[in-house]
Amino acid sequence: MSHSLDRIGTDRPPRVRIAPSPTGPLHIGTARTALYNYLYARHMGGAFVLRLEDTDQARGSIAYEKDILDGLHWLGLRWDEGPEVAGEAARGPHAPYRQMERLPNYAAAAERLLAADMAYPCYCTPDELESDRTAQEAAKLPPRYVGRCATLTPAERAAREAEGRRGALRFRVGTGVVAFDDIVRGRVEIDVANLGGDFVIVRGDGSPLYNFTVVVDDADMEISHVIRGEDHISNTPKQLLIFRALGYPEPRYAHLPLILNPDRTKMSKRKSQTALSDYIAQGFIREALVNYLALLGWATGTEEEVLSIDEIAERFDLEAVHKGGAIFDRDRLEWLNGQWIRRLEPGDLIDRLRPFVEAEHVARRIDWIPSDDELRAFLPVMRERLPTLGAIGDLAGFLWVEAVPVDPAVLVPRRWDADTTRDGLAAARSTIAAVGEVTFEADELEPPLRALAEARGWKAGDLFMAIRVAITGRTATPPLFDTMVALGRDRVLERLDRAMAVLGGGHRR
Ligand code: GLU
Repeated sequence: MSHSLDRIGTDRPPRVRIAPSPTGPLHIGTARTALYNYLYARHMGGAFVLRLEDTDQARGSIAYEKDILDGLHWLGLRWDEGPEVAGEAARGPHAPYRQMERLPNYAAAAERLLAADMAYPCYCTPDELESDRTAQEAAKLPPRYVGRCATLTPAERAAREAEGRRGALRFRVGTGVVAFDDIVRGRVEIDVANLGGDFVIVRGDGSPLYNFTVVVDDADMEISHVIRGEDHISNTPKQLLIFRALGYPEPRYAHLPLILNPDRTKMSKRKSQTALSDYIAQGFIREALVNYLALLGWATGTEEEVLSIDEIAERFDLEAVHKGGAIFDRDRLEWLNGQWIRRLEPGDLIDRLRPFVEAEHVARRIDWIPSDDELRAFLPVMRERLPTLGAIGDLAGFLWVEAVPVDPAVLVPRRWDADTTRDGLAAARSTIAAVGEVTFEADELEPPLRALAEARGWKAGDLFMAIRVAITGRTATPPLFDTMVALGRDRVLERLDRAMAVLGGGHRR
């Protein structure tokens, strides 16, 4: 039998799922996992299911749930089946898609395992478990359940129940090796001796645990492929044992490489920016993030890099996902973002820039909010230079202020002194003033200013830098002549006057 054959649904389209726990904001790694599931479903003509694993009521919150759903939505990862959200009814034949609404299913499965003696009640107290752990640690042994309750007789169980003790349910791991063919990692074999002994699937208070609920749901929802982060690989043998105990067909697994910091450490909340919402807030756009995340652990095998979600879905191949960790390269993300920003229709780009421009105004970094026309006029020059939408203020904020602060130390070019700078700006002012309002265009401005530099024996670069700083307050801007046109003749002249004033005194004739 070829091992590329699916165990479930060889003849049916695949069913995959993203199963986030709302215990934190949408993590960039979860976003990538969701994307890979989505891409696989789209590529294969299968179904993409969203299931909310909300059984951790202590750490979970509605705010995180909203952040996760909004983030997936923003990325454009529309699920075919999922829970009811924001007034929209649940979608799909396996509703409900929230684990807290599926408790009876777990109870029924637990009942079956108990009846078949594949699971048993465990009455060990926290103190007993703690002292087991301490003893194992002292003996330099890995922690495992010692099996104190594994062989209790019905009478012994009844005695403990009579004392009012509520047993947790432990799953019997037995002996042997669990093996599976991971689509990304190949053959994986794990000796059940390394699983830490019989493990709890339902707590004493009746609440079911992840490794158990995930199996009941993946089976009920007929999930054919479990595509998830490599950090879950140690859970897979436990889950496979439960699938087998319940007599369910096993899904295939694909464990995705971890996302790493450039120093190859794991990307964590403390060390790195991991929340998708932070990237959105900085002005990364969905097309770029999708493109970037898709390439984080997978490559087209060609030179193609800038691809839309549909183009990626067409090419996506789970078997081509890399095994090794995927390094998060922010420069590459910014580059892709810039590529995608340039591809946006002007009207669309303006709409997306709006909130960032408004934020500049709220922060009082600009004096007024530019109109669509003002933005549109500068767009051709600007959009080549925007790595993120959030860079708009740095790049073009000087356009929307009454005056720019000019630092004399920056205004005077390195090869010049204050007097030369004052001369240069004065001469430039007359040259610029000679260009009329109507013909105030880049190609009307450049030749006379170049001629001026030449006539006075100045390097054009020095003169242009002095003008640039005078009218924008900064040394790096979009092309100078386009910048002048965007500012308009009157404001250019006014800013040149102010800059000369900053240099003060010494009007030599
Ligand atoms: N709720 C789990 C998580 O967020 C799902 C893991 C899985 O895909 O099985 O990590």
